Amino acid sequence: MALLGTLLCCLLAAWHGRPSLGLPLAPAGRGSPPAAVGQFWHVTDLHLDPTYHITEDHTKVCASSKGANASNPGPFGDVLCDSPYHLILSAFDFIKNSGQEASFMIWTGDSPPHVPVHELSTDTVIDVIANMTATIQSLFPNLQVFPALGNHDYWPQDQLPVVTSKVYNAVANLWKPWLDEEAVCTLREGGFYSQKVSTNLNLRIISLNTNLYYGPDLVTLNMTDPANQLKWLENTLNISQQNKEKVYIIAHVPVGYLPFSRSITAMREYYNEKLIEIFRKYSNIIAGQFYGHTHRDSIMVLLDKKGSPVSSLFVAPAVTPGRNVLEKLTNNPGVRLFQYEPRDYKLLDMLQYFLNLTDANRRGESNWKLEYKLTQIYNVEDLQPKSLYGLAKQFTVIDSKQFMKYYNYFFVSYDSSVLCVGRCKALQICAIMNLDYISYTDCLKQYYRKHSL
Ligand SMILES: [Zn+2]
Ligand SMILES: [Zn+2]
Repeated sequence: MALLGTLLCCLLAAWHGRPSLGLPLAPAGRGSPPAAVGQFWHVTDLHLDPTYHITEDHTKVCASSKGANASNPGPFGDVLCDSPYHLILSAFDFIKNSGQEASFMIWTGDSPPHVPVHELSTDTVIDVIANMTATIQSLFPNLQVFPALGNHDYWPQDQLPVVTSKVYNAVANLWKPWLDEEAVCTLREGGFYSQKVSTNLNLRIISLNTNLYYGPDLVTLNMTDPANQLKWLENTLNISQQNKEKVYIIAHVPVGYLPFSRSITAMREYYNEKLIEIFRKYSNIIAGQFYGHTHRDSIMVLLDKKGSPVSSLFVAPAVTPGRNVLEKLTNNPGVRLFQYEPRDYKLLDMLQYFLNLTDANRRGESNWKLEYKLTQIYNVEDLQPKSLYGLAKQFTVIDSKQFMKYYNYFFVSYDSSVLCVGRCKALQICAIMNLDYISYTDCLKQYYRKHSL
C-alpha cells in the first residue's frame, strides 16, 4: 500500500511537472542596471538541546554533554553541548535582520540533540522538529523554506524507514505551508520530495532522504533502492531535463568521502556510487548540491569520467557548536547565504556567516558576522565547477595559503592555529576532488607516493 502511495505521488508529480514558462528577465543591456542576483539561505544541524541551562554543576548544564563537564557554558552555549534555544534564535534573528533579501531558504535537517536513545522518543523528536518549524515560520512568515530530513530527525536515531511512519506524517503536516500537494505526498511516504521554487519558476528543489543510505540505518541493509528513491530521482531529473528546468539537490548526509578520515564515505559505498552515476548523467541541469551532517564547512567538485569538473557541492557547517568529549576541535555556529544568477540559477557566490561562541558568551550578546565571501577570499570568479576545481588544484601546492584558509574555515574559524599537513591534507584534498571509489583510491595512492607519506 505504501509503495503504491509513493508511485501514485510520482505519477501526480510527473503529471504536474509538464513544461512551464520561466519568468524571462530583461537582458542587461548597456545603460540598464544589471539583473539583481538571486539569494537563498542555507541553515543546517540546529540540534536543539532543550535541557541546556547555566548551573554551578557543569555536568548538569546539558543532557548532550552526557555527564561530561561543560567547558565554559554561557548564554549561547558550550562546545560540549548542543544548541540552547537562545543560540538558534540568535541565528534566525541575524538572518532576519541581516538586510539580505532572499527568495527562499534551505534547511538540511538534524534538529534533536545528541543524547542516548532512551532519553528521546518518537514524540519528543516530533516536538523538537515542530518547535524549530514554528520558530522559522513565526520569524519568516513569507519565506518559502525547503527542508530535508536528517538522521537525527527520527527515533530511534538513524533508523529512517522506507515506508510511511509517524515522523514522516508529522513533518508532512508541519511543512505543508511551504510545500505543494505532490511534495507533501512523497514526503509522507518516503521522507523525500521535489518542488519548484515559487519565485523562481524554472528552478526545482529536489530534497533527498539520504539518511536511508547512511551506514547505521539497519532498516535499509542490503536493499538496492530503499523507498524506490533512486528510481524516483532519475525519473524526476528526466522530467526536469525535458522541461528545461534547473535543479538544486538538497539532502542531509552528503555524497563523497569524509574529509577527515581515510576511505570512508559519508553514506554506504554502494549508494554513493549509484548517486554519483545519476549526478554525472544529469550534471547539465543540476546547478548545485547542498548538504549538512558533518557539521563542518567543506566543498566538493564532481568530475565526470574523463576528469572534467561537472558539479559543485557545498557542505554547510552546523549551527550547533557541540562536540564529542573525545574530539579536540569543533566548529563555531554558522549560517550561509548563496547568490545565483536569476536567469539560469548558476551559483555566483557564497557568504559564510558565523558566531564567535567564546566572544558572544563573554559579552552576553550575539555578534553574528561575515566570516568570508568565497570568491573574494579565494580570488575565484564564481562557484562553477571549473572555478572550484581550479581552486582545489591550488590547494594541492605545498604550503598553499589558500588551503590554510580553507582548513581554518573548515572549523568555522574555531582555532586559526590548527594546521593540516601530510596525511591530513591528503585526505582533505582527495575528498574534495574525488567522489567515487576508483578515483578516490587512486588519488590517495598518488598523493601518498608524491609526498612520500
Ligand atoms: Zn548533525
Ligand atoms: Zn546528521
